[in-house]
Amino acid sequence: MLQCSAMKKTPSTDDRCSCGSGSALSDCCGKYLDGNSTAPTAEQLMRSRYTAYVRMNAPYLLATWHASTRPPHLDLSPTQWLGLTIKRHEVQDADHAIVEFIARYKIGGRAYKLHETSRFVREEGRWYYVDGDDALTGTTIEMRHLK
Ligand SMILES: [Zn+2]
Repeated sequence: MLQCSAMKKTPSTDDRCSCGSGSALSDCCGKYLDGNSTAPTAEQLMRSRYTAYVRMNAPYLLATWHASTRPPHLDLSPTQWLGLTIKRHEVQDADHAIVEFIARYKIGGRAYKLHETSRFVREEGRWYYVDGDDALTGTTIEMRHLK
């Protein structure tokens, strides 16, 4: 009897997490996106949010966005995400951290680079994305091109 290939668990590059960790999705950001556990550090939350953008998981992005800065809704347009590089993860105190990253993506054949310094806060044990500055100019980033 033939076995359906979808039922076999064969590790391949397709199973690797989009965040670039090299781990399987289910061992990495997948468990946070599924809601089975919460990201223990700001860096892991940042990685899981990138993976959520790749997978167009708007509910996760909104759920991990701090209430003070969260947009009322998020319309994600198809974006070809090319990769994430974490440049810096700085823990400021128990409940505040910043993560500097570079995300590369393509829209309509044009390549873009987002180099952002993001602020994260932890409330009741959960990390939330607050907002971010352009890492080079220091101006606040509006995520308009990601909507
Ligand atoms: Zn991941």
